[in-house]
Amino acid sequence: MEKNSVASNFLHVGNRLLAWYKNNARDLPFRQTKDPYKIWICEIVFQQTRINQGLNHYNNFIKRFPDVKTLAEAEENEVLLYWKGLGYYSRAINIHKAAKQIMTDYQGIFPSHYEDILKLKGIGKYTAAAVSSICFGGKMPAVDGNFYRVLSRLFADDFDISSSKAFTYFSELATLVMPENVGDFNQAMMDLGSEICKPKNPLCEECPIHKDCLAFSLQKVTDYPVKTKKVKAEDLALTYYFVQKDEQFLIRQRGDDFIWKKLFEFPSSIPSEMEPYIIGSKTVNHKLTHKNLSIEIFNVKVTSVKVWNDFIAENQYLITDIEGSHEKSFPKPLENYIQNSLKD
Ligand code: SF4
Repeated sequence: MEKNSVASNFLHVGNRLLAWYKNNARDLPFRQTKDPYKIWICEIVFQQTRINQGLNHYNNFIKRFPDVKTLAEAEENEVLLYWKGLGYYSRAINIHKAAKQIMTDYQGIFPSHYEDILKLKGIGKYTAAAVSSICFGGKMPAVDGNFYRVLSRLFADDFDISSSKAFTYFSELATLVMPENVGDFNQAMMDLGSEICKPKNPLCEECPIHKDCLAFSLQKVTDYPVKTKKVKAEDLALTYYFVQKDEQFLIRQRGDDFIWKKLFEFPSSIPSEMEPYIIGSKTVNHKLTHKNLSIEIFNVKVTSVKVWNDFIAENQYLITDIEGSHEKSFPKPLENYIQNSLKD
């Protein structure tokens, strides 16, 4: 699309969006604040979690870690515990690291410039733009999937959103409709994308910009956005041993590479002396963003004190029980397994 030719025709669209946002903004707790710490946490919490699913987690997190300093001084395992239920635990690990970075590099004061915010661990262009525009009057559009979708439809633009150049392309396109108040504009686009211009069945009749929307006037809304590449999920098989003795079982903490960083898991191998104690196995399927997991979990009920003690002595496993496991964060399928097997 020739941007210059349409620029003057579309500048009013952003203002129309702002007027709509003023009366229709979702009533969310973080909308009452301009505290960059809280805006940052909420942006990270709600990146992959629906608002109604994440709201309690967000409130609990902020209650326990009300500011950068409290978060930076907390133990990583406690931060992970407060992230329990939200998934994508690497986000919690990065939040914690970024809080420490703010304490050391910025004397505990949240940086106000887009470029500085971008340097913080785990913060990408979208979050840096959102925080700097909402809290500090920054002028960068917070381009995410909502922007791709709304702008593709608004301009009936068939630029491939799976292209590596999509971010730059749609950032430029956004500037055509972007008014002075970029913070509210970014939030208006978020709300429009999630409430009105939804991926499926958009509510075009209720849309504040439908008179300007080319896809709508061409009756081709479902043709946009255009996405050619599909990321193929990789199949991955995992094996675990749920090694129990009486009420206790064994766990260890994962490293921070690969999936499920720093979460707790069961042993992934056992010695031959322990094999006679296997009483069954179960396969659980679980989907991650780019992985299809098939997890076989063997239930091992050890009755020999020697076999149990030797195994613990040779490996660095922790002994826990159902109560102790509540204090730790496990990947969802393992968490479910613990709940189900110890329930009976
Ligand atoms: S008119 Fe429909 S397709 Fe166009 S921006 Fe609004 S909701 Fe999206």
